[in-house]
Amino acid sequence: MKKEIRNFCIIAHIDHGKSTLADRLLESTGTVTTRQMKEQLLDDLELERQRGITIKARAVAMKYQRGGIEYELNLIDTPGHVDFQYEVSRSLACCEGALLLVDAFQGVEAQTVANAYAALEHDLTIVPVINKIDLMNARPDEVAEEMMNSLGTDPFECVRVSAKTGLGVNDLLEAIIERIPAPTGDPNAPLQAMVFDSNYDDYRGAITYVRIMQGTVKRGHKIKFARKGSVHEVVELGQFAPARVSCNELSAGQVGYLICNIKSLGDVHIGDTVVDNIDKSAPALPGYARPKRMVYCGLFPSDGQEFTDLRDALERLAVNDPSFEFEPETSDALGFGFRCGFLGLLHMEIIQQRLENESDIDLVQTAPNVTYEVVDKRGNTHTIHKPQDVPDPGDIEEFRQPIVRCSIIVPNDYIGSVMKLCQERRGIQRAHEILGANRTMLTYHIPLAEVVYDLHDKIKSATKGYGTLDYEMVGFEPADLCRLDIMVNGNRVDALAIVCHRADADRRGRAVAKKLKSEIERHMFEVAVQAAIGSRVIARETVPAMRKNVTAKCYGGDITRKRKLLQKQKEGKKRMKAVGNVEISQKAFMAVLSDG
Ligand code: GDP
Ligand code: MG
Repeated sequence: MKKEIRNFCIIAHIDHGKSTLADRLLESTGTVTTRQMKEQLLDDLELERQRGITIKARAVAMKYQRGGIEYELNLIDTPGHVDFQYEVSRSLACCEGALLLVDAFQGVEAQTVANAYAALEHDLTIVPVINKIDLMNARPDEVAEEMMNSLGTDPFECVRVSAKTGLGVNDLLEAIIERIPAPTGDPNAPLQAMVFDSNYDDYRGAITYVRIMQGTVKRGHKIKFARKGSVHEVVELGQFAPARVSCNELSAGQVGYLICNIKSLGDVHIGDTVVDNIDKSAPALPGYARPKRMVYCGLFPSDGQEFTDLRDALERLAVNDPSFEFEPETSDALGFGFRCGFLGLLHMEIIQQRLENESDIDLVQTAPNVTYEVVDKRGNTHTIHKPQDVPDPGDIEEFRQPIVRCSIIVPNDYIGSVMKLCQERRGIQRAHEILGANRTMLTYHIPLAEVVYDLHDKIKSATKGYGTLDYEMVGFEPADLCRLDIMVNGNRVDALAIVCHRADADRRGRAVAKKLKSEIERHMFEVAVQAAIGSRVIARETVPAMRKNVTAKCYGGDITRKRKLLQKQKEGKKRMKAVGNVEISQKAFMAVLSDG
């Protein structure tokens, strides 16, 4: 039988039904039987299931027969959240087409637009899909119009489906075959395969996910990773269906995995090219643009003994997630730990949770900050990843911060409150576009620090959850910023320093001091908390000395209550760090994010 291949991904705003649609496609093609069907099969990371979001892109091969031709449909799942644009772009590079999925009730949202543009930049054929047409309040005609206004798609080309009931899924399969072009590439040419993902298996070593661009790879072949030149023998290769199914060869156009007994994690680089181990091997493919890490924080083990465990755990995570980076850091207050770089706040939260779930290490995390640039009085420019590295005020010629272009899509009722929020966050409006009867896209330039701080949450609550935000880096711009130091009993606590706008410094300083006062437990002595810019103290709070034993108040009372109290105290102790002789909890290290 004749064979043809289609490679595609599904891109959508979060919750528009990408994972559900993937499940339905697996079912309709018989890749997975209804009985085997566990809901949202592709989200196999435990954390993804817990949080209901797709973090790592996955690839699944489906077989589908039509008109005497067997089609291999390779579906690459992509994450939908703003923090993971980098992984989206990796997936796009492996595909010829993209299903652009939009919820028939929610309509076009910020990530719909961002993802659609990314797909167009990669020259993908876009198949517009309107999902959830089974919903009572679905408004597919209006949504088709919104898609036309914001993305230029033809309303007549929108395929209407319900990923939940399966309605329209066969039409969608037809559209995938009819509209998405087959991959080109010569199976007899020298091997050229793009590494788009990898993970680590305790028994098999690194598993490398590849898209074969040219040539053929077979079991037993010697292959070479172009970047480092390391050579390995292919001991197993195959595709995901969705479990690993081995085969004898993969050739041009196919997507699958390679296992080469690679035990050293540093050998596999996402974005690398796999070629034949011969003199005239194919050239390396252009790698992916380096991910921009925009948010940094310190991670320290609560128990200093766990430093090496933490390092091992971070190394394992980094293999699977090249957008995450870390380097050792020492803090006077927190001891030995790591400064870690993330794509955004959600990314940070996920890494922290994965670390705790997968390695059982108690972490103390410092408040996140963005990258800054400082030009000193001698004209040297410094890139700053942690606030405590900002030089003293007298040595700063210019202080620069990252600015992002935010696209915010809102129902018209909320335009006023969103504009107010953006202005308060020092945003400058750049555009105001009407997408449909009741949808508007606002574009603002806003300091990233303000976005990271809380803009996303604030937009969500100001719009009853309907507003959506996406952002991309514009560049660094000078601003009137300062380093705000926090002192506890006269000791500057490096891990509590923050950078903020000078006009906000007084308010932030007071808020942080107040918050810390409430987070620091009483000690046997008085604890003074101060906020200062340079040598100028701008706020002071005092934690009074402890007078009584905590259990004293249950004196004579019931013993289980006393035990509970002691237990609670013990748990509270876990994430503590001592600064001088003052114990500070994990929560207090995040207190600098407090708005008062
Ligand atoms: P993702 O974030 O894009 O992967 O979205 P999910 O596939 O996790 O779906 C988000 C929510 O929408 C889930 O509660 C799904 O059950 C629901 N959902 C997905 N597709 C449909 C559909 O066609 N109709 C209805 N009524 N609900 C759907
Ligand atoms: Mg999902």
